[in-house]
Amino acid sequence: MELEKFIRDVPDFPQKGIIFKDITTLLKDGHALKQAVDLMKEKYRDQKIDKIVGIESRGFIFGGVAAYQLNCGFVPARKPGKLPAKTVREDYTLEYGTNTLEIHEDAVSRGERVIIMDDLLATGGTALAVAKLVERLGGQIIGIEFLIELTFLHGIDKLKGYNVHSCIKY
Ligand code: AMP
Repeated sequence: MELEKFIRDVPDFPQKGIIFKDITTLLKDGHALKQAVDLMKEKYRDQKIDKIVGIESRGFIFGGVAAYQLNCGFVPARKPGKLPAKTVREDYTLEYGTNTLEIHEDAVSRGERVIIMDDLLATGGTALAVAKLVERLGGQIIGIEFLIELTFLHGIDKLKGYNVHSCIKY
């Protein structure tokens, strides 16, 4: 199955000049969703993963399903003010705008083996911010997984030193 057929390009969303990669067209197809999550999680089956950290909000979908399949925990990395208990936070820049992400300070324990998941790698700022949060809590990053990578934005350079994979490259 060619997964890229299930990705819809939406020009000028959320602002002019951005071609938004819409994954809802993949999510609504049961076979495509299964294949996508299988591809993202399969290499970790025997890696004794403790936690998947999913990035708000589309990373919750892939990360949640993959955590269930890998029998590990799931941790949400959320936009500021959404998590109820004490958090650690990190600011970062996006392809469009700036943002902050938080995780609960007790979400990852020292030495835990962690995968970070999101739908798309653009400039890499988001994933790098989450990697820093996980490492600040003492987690060990085993891999960073994306469904889609926009290679022309060279986000992979920002994530040098990490084990980064993506299923669909543009
Ligand atoms: P970045 O930090 O630049 O790698 O941006 C990645 C985050 O922004 C991911 O959470 C994506 O969901 C979102 N994102 C950035 N650019 C796009 C795009 N062209 N289409 C869809 N999502 C995007």
